Amino acid sequence: MSELHKFLFEGLPVRGMLVRLTESWREVLCRHAQSGGYPAAVTELLGEMSAAAVLMQGNIKFNGALVLQVFGDGPLKLAVAEVQPDFGFRATAKVSGEVADDAPLSHMVNVNGQGRCAITLDPKDRLPGQQPYQGVVPLSGDRHEKLESLQEVLEHYMLRSEQLDTKLVLAANGEIAAGLLIQRLPATGQDNLAGSSATQAEGDAIGVNEDYHRIATLAASLKPEELLTLDAETILHRLFWQENLLRFEPEGGPLAPKFACTCSRERVGNMLRSLGAEEVEAILAERGEVEVGCDFCGAQYRFDPVDAAQLFLQQERQPPAGEQLH
Ligand SMILES: [Zn+2]
Repeated sequence: MSELHKFLFEGLPVRGMLVRLTESWREVLCRHAQSGGYPAAVTELLGEMSAAAVLMQGNIKFNGALVLQVFGDGPLKLAVAEVQPDFGFRATAKVSGEVADDAPLSHMVNVNGQGRCAITLDPKDRLPGQQPYQGVVPLSGDRHEKLESLQEVLEHYMLRSEQLDTKLVLAANGEIAAGLLIQRLPATGQDNLAGSSATQAEGDAIGVNEDYHRIATLAASLKPEELLTLDAETILHRLFWQENLLRFEPEGGPLAPKFACTCSRERVGNMLRSLGAEEVEAILAERGEVEVGCDFCGAQYRFDPVDAAQLFLQQERQPPAGEQLH
């Protein structure tokens, strides 16, 4: 079973999370195997993105989809991992061209420095006209050096946009996608665990909290192969046996991470409506039916001329989109 473990360091402004995606990650890969599967380096990146997206969703407990995207210039056109509030997740990648098995991030998606990482928060009950929140960062560091791992990109993102010291260790292969997140809690605000003290403001400054620094250094010593092969208990004990760890019950049952796709015939129908009747009729004239495949799960949705006509009939009975807003 896939697992998500949350923990705190007693009395210290530091929290952590460990995720292991096993059967759920294999299900993602299985869905894409039918269409040829991915090169090894893309599988690794997509697995790391899936693990990271589950960790970030667990971190902010957002009531909506958290979407992590990497895109730019290179043979990997786009990679997406999306996680719902119940930790149902899905992932897909678009590859065009050769990707070496050991290709670093820059060779896949940041050849001429155009690579980007986007994090989108799309609220579940979005009000009409409300836009999802999106943060976009380049795949490079403060000195414009190309970053070669997703964990560096995301650590950079957290520091720059959330002002949070974060240590991430991510790893994935064809069997498992896993991640460890260590984060310094803000010393002020509702998450304050340190209590009030004269040194609080000092400890709150980014990068100087000694407790965070010690724990992050321990976390960074975890090797990718250890993260992939050891169970959660062993990893946490090995890294933090001298620390006072407060463990929460692991997210299990309905809240365990699992593969889940949010596609539906209704959503595909909406997409066809937005294409317009003319475009859809052109496809029907050429192929006799409209077939749309889901990039995430491989489901195929077919609309024959009668189905298509119904799509646009329904639309005529509804007020135009502009009027629905008021
Ligand atoms: Zn789907």
